[in-house]
Amino acid sequence: MLKKTISLVLSLAVILSAYYFIYQENTSITEGNTALVDSVSTNVTKVEPTILYGMVIDSFQVAENSVKRNESISDILQAYNVPHQVIFKLANKARDIFDVRKIAANKKYTIIYQDQDSLPSAKAMVYEPNAEEYVVFNLRDSVDVYLEKRPIEIKEKTISGIISSSLYNEIINNGGTPELVDLVADMYGWQIDFGRIYAGDKFKILYSERTINGEPVGVEEVIGAELIHSNSPFLSIAFDQGEGVDYFDNEGKSLRKAFLRYPVKFSRISSRYTMNRYHPVQKRNKPHLGTDFAASTGTPIYAAGDGVVEKAAYEKYNGNNVKIRHNGTYSTQYLHMSKIASGVRSGGRVKQGQIIGYVGSTGLATGPHLCYRFWKNGKQVDGLKVDLPPSEPIKKDYLTSFTRYKDFVKSKLDKVEYPKEKEEVLLAGMQ
Ligand SMILES: [Zn+2]
Repeated sequence: MLKKTISLVLSLAVILSAYYFIYQENTSITEGNTALVDSVSTNVTKVEPTILYGMVIDSFQVAENSVKRNESISDILQAYNVPHQVIFKLANKARDIFDVRKIAANKKYTIIYQDQDSLPSAKAMVYEPNAEEYVVFNLRDSVDVYLEKRPIEIKEKTISGIISSSLYNEIINNGGTPELVDLVADMYGWQIDFGRIYAGDKFKILYSERTINGEPVGVEEVIGAELIHSNSPFLSIAFDQGEGVDYFDNEGKSLRKAFLRYPVKFSRISSRYTMNRYHPVQKRNKPHLGTDFAASTGTPIYAAGDGVVEKAAYEKYNGNNVKIRHNGTYSTQYLHMSKIASGVRSGGRVKQGQIIGYVGSTGLATGPHLCYRFWKNGKQVDGLKVDLPPSEPIKKDYLTSFTRYKDFVKSKLDKVEYPKEKEEVLLAGMQ
């Protein structure tokens, strides 16, 4: 019986993918097994059954709906006269594939049913937790549940614009998504203050997009971009030196700084680095060789840069604190945490932006805040004023392949044109 079900599912999946390939006109990268398709495509064109979610539905009716607030799978199926014991069996069978309690409001579902004695009787239910997957609850013959992934295509896309109000508006107006805006803003965030972007700044972006049946479902990656900001070009090329993708400029320098300026999302700076301040607890003047960021207890604290944990411990004055050695030159320390993040311990590695603990007031502190200390060559310096060094550039071993790849991406960006109308308006305005 199990074998039969598996083979049925498999053959349906093959038919579905065959349909998919037959109706796809373009030839960009597609995940899937093309070898299987050749062998069945002739068969498929002869039969031409109506297929939905891999099921032949010719003799059935279809109802599409979305989950209402607090609605459960049994509420949905009972309306289609599925007996209690079948729903129970279904939930049990689904366990390893999909937790039926996770059915969420506003998600789409489809019921495939037949009228029996003038009552609708469900034969299958398909639930779509996201755009890329769907869960089939098959109620025909034997109860059976399976998860299918839709074939995803990765398509290269370009977008360009001349900014009149904001980067956000310009990307959206030219067909981009808020997700793309976020990625681009993150990428350039170290160099450009997007609050100060000027009208007339221009951008070209080359990126890849995930699509399902031609519909975009998300950005795969920003491949490269060029931003002209107050007449200076800022090139950005995605490149992996073996430790994940990072972004580099025309010379192979990282777009990222080695350190975050602020290792916490704070409400205000309650005390700056100073050689002389009145200590609220000790009630005397003494230097404050750190920056205090006021934030509520439990606010996450991020590692300012990659490095090795030199200390992660409780101490009388510093409270729960973590010190990170970033390299031979720089170290940072984070005091008064309510809690050190799990897994952060002496000798372990941390990545820039990783949560290393949570704001608190342990040790000598009057209220919840992070005291952030910054060392350069063994001397404590002002973390807010120090010139932050850039992150690792392209390594020597990768320089040739990076340069070749950069030129390739650049040539693609060069072919992208700016929206015509606007450029002409701007040029006319300049005369
Ligand atoms: Zn402090």
